[in-house]
Amino acid sequence: MAMTATRTITTINPATEAVIEQHEIDSPEIVDRKLEQAYSAFQQWRTVPIEERAAGVRRLGAALRANKTALATMISTEMGKPIADAEGEVEKSAGNCDYYADNGPAMLAREVVETTARESYVTFEPLGVILAVMPWNYPVWQLIRHAAPALVGGNVVVLKHASNVTGSAKLIEQVARDAGLPEGAITTLVIPGSRVEAIIDDPRIAAVTLTGSDAVGSKIAEAAGRNIKKSVLELGGSDAFIVLADADLDGAADYGARSRFQNAGQVCISAKRFIVVDSVADDFVAKLKERAEAIPMGSPFERTTKLGPMARVDLRDEIERQMQATINEGATLVTGGTRPDGPGYYFPASIVDHVTNEMTMFRQETFGPVAAIIRVPDEETAIAVANDSQYGLGGALWTRDIEKAKALARKIETGGVFINGMTTSNWKVPFGGVKRSGYGRELSTYGMREFVNIQTVWIEQ
Ligand code: NAP
Repeated sequence: MAMTATRTITTINPATEAVIEQHEIDSPEIVDRKLEQAYSAFQQWRTVPIEERAAGVRRLGAALRANKTALATMISTEMGKPIADAEGEVEKSAGNCDYYADNGPAMLAREVVETTARESYVTFEPLGVILAVMPWNYPVWQLIRHAAPALVGGNVVVLKHASNVTGSAKLIEQVARDAGLPEGAITTLVIPGSRVEAIIDDPRIAAVTLTGSDAVGSKIAEAAGRNIKKSVLELGGSDAFIVLADADLDGAADYGARSRFQNAGQVCISAKRFIVVDSVADDFVAKLKERAEAIPMGSPFERTTKLGPMARVDLRDEIERQMQATINEGATLVTGGTRPDGPGYYFPASIVDHVTNEMTMFRQETFGPVAAIIRVPDEETAIAVANDSQYGLGGALWTRDIEKAKALARKIETGGVFINGMTTSNWKVPFGGVKRSGYGRELSTYGMREFVNIQTVWIEQ
């Protein structure tokens, strides 16, 4: 992705480095027209009964499934995700639509409250046009995760997608139209990130949600704060994957490898810091190494590929820089570490051992396929080391003692703890973080209620 004379956004295939397309950037006049259309779509959509809005979101899910091949092909072409995983992403997004179509109306049903009034109740009214600023790592899922509940709730969505997935953004807009959602229900702006703050200032925008880095999160929170507009921030993470002495090491290595290396490590909730108790560290590292070395790397369009290229050249360079800095600081390379020759932003599944709290890969978020191993003497230290992070998104804990795990989970300062598994998102449970991983929640009833006006109606007599 690159900007040319600020008139176009150029998307680049990360597997071949070939230009995919030059997208014309929206002029201020076009943005104004799109916001106007979204605003008037909202005025109409809010009056549609919630069951009908839910039916619209169900059709959106069906349209995502019907267009699965086109969407998955676009995802793989623009950001390098293996095609089978891209198809899975589209399926999951459709499932999220079904979930909110089925459950959204009940989540927002009027709540009658007994008070001294003749009648009193709480209703959940829509907020308006929500600006969704989204990242490229799951181009369809990240948007639909937010849009399905927002639309059932009576809001409409203006999407500012990451520039390198502009084709995906346009395709999603088209699919929403094909699903029969009103013009303006999902509107894509083709603008660079630098123009987002001005959109937040626009009075037609009611609220903003960001999935992205904490650096951009600060800017968006500042703009939203200045305007006193609701914001939800789903930001970066440096999730711990804790392996205690009594863990099932094969299971931990299986899940750990999947968690760190899927999507080329470009996942907010990837296991980034493997915190392993000394007594099992050698065994665990050997098992993780075995799995890392068995991962087939190659073209995203080969069905056997599990590790495609990274999404952009700067991301590949950054993970390589972080890895090299950590090795220079005293850590040791266990496997991988060398980018292959030839075109494409490939980087192999890599492991760096003997990482300590001061080192680069511990202190910074690592958004690529490199695992950091931190060895600790005992479980108490493991929890302290896990919490020694500016982030607090998710985390995993491996032990055969479930009661102990539950007690330890309460000490872990994150929005989610996954025991004997890996951090994942599931629409039945809330998703989000604390500390610099952001605030607010997505998914489940909690996510549904982020973008509503919780209105009290009190009939005194
Ligand atoms: P990013 O650089 O923060 O970009 C995210 C979005 O913000 C893009 O649409 C980007 O547009 C836009 N943006 C850039 N500069 C902006 C500005 N000054 N004002 C407003 N918007 C701006 O993040 P990324 O590199 O795409 O994604 C990786 C990050 O996202 C990681 O930190 C990862 O952990 C996090 N993430 C979090 C979650 C979660 O659910 N918590 C999920 C996935 C990813 P342009 O592309 O045009 O710059």
